[in-house]
Amino acid sequence: MRRFTLPSLVLALGLTTIAGGQPDGLGKQLGGGKIITGATAQRLIHFTFDDGPDPETTPRLLDLLDRLHIKVTFFFSASRFRGRQARNRHAADIAREALRRGHSIGSHSVDHQRMGRLSPGKLKAQLDENERLFDAVFGSRTFLFRPPFGSSNRRLDQMLHQRRYTNVMWNIGLADWVQRPPEALLRTFQKVLSRNEVRDGQRGGIVLLHDTHLWSVVAVELLVRHLEQRNCVLLAQGQPLYDIVDDLSPFYESALEGDAGVEARLAQLPDPVFAERQLALVDATRKRCESEISQLSSH
Ligand SMILES: [Zn+2]
Repeated sequence: MRRFTLPSLVLALGLTTIAGGQPDGLGKQLGGGKIITGATAQRLIHFTFDDGPDPETTPRLLDLLDRLHIKVTFFFSASRFRGRQARNRHAADIAREALRRGHSIGSHSVDHQRMGRLSPGKLKAQLDENERLFDAVFGSRTFLFRPPFGSSNRRLDQMLHQRRYTNVMWNIGLADWVQRPPEALLRTFQKVLSRNEVRDGQRGGIVLLHDTHLWSVVAVELLVRHLEQRNCVLLAQGQPLYDIVDDLSPFYESALEGDAGVEARLAQLPDPVFAERQLALVDATRKRCESEISQLSSH
């Protein structure tokens, strides 16, 4: 999987380069106070993970992602960094390591409350503390936010908008907090992908998982291998292939106005960017599928 080179993508999307082409792991270039839904008509997939960092499962996921050559977005719970105990320092180290390895980092609030139910004063206190804790770990706040349970209301949307957070939702939820077998998560993934495509014309989107569950970490490889297998079939059918993208920028163009409730368009990479990526994917997929087929026939 190739990482977007931000300058070229930013130019293609008409965004302003703020970080001078540097990796934008804290989402500064996406800091427009908008809402991303994940809806897309293109076969773009981005994986996101909530609730970490976990001392056991997050490092394991980081190694797996390296092996798969995939970058994801983490929405960390800031309370894990709060305090001076060894576990807090360890959580901060894991979070910095995720950023160092090229992943994007967002906030999942301080302590996982249903923010849509909080008073204005409590909301403000949550966001203030959130920024302070992220700043202490990364030397900067993050501009990406995912409210726990997806719970929001107009007041929270406005507050996030004013503070230039982009509120990142998802359209491919796997309910990995209620079902554990990785194979069950794969089946749900297949079901949701096909339901979204048939019902809404959405062929890809943002996948929600939790890096705090071992079964979810194990499932990641199954999901990626499934997309690779599907790509063999799609290639034979002459259809567009699944493209696992390394950051949220393809979804940003179609974001909602954060305080206006404007309906989102389907996310869409500019045609030349999508076409160029598809060409490279077709090339790699052809090689991979041929060698898989010849391996199978040699047994
Ligand atoms: Zn959560």
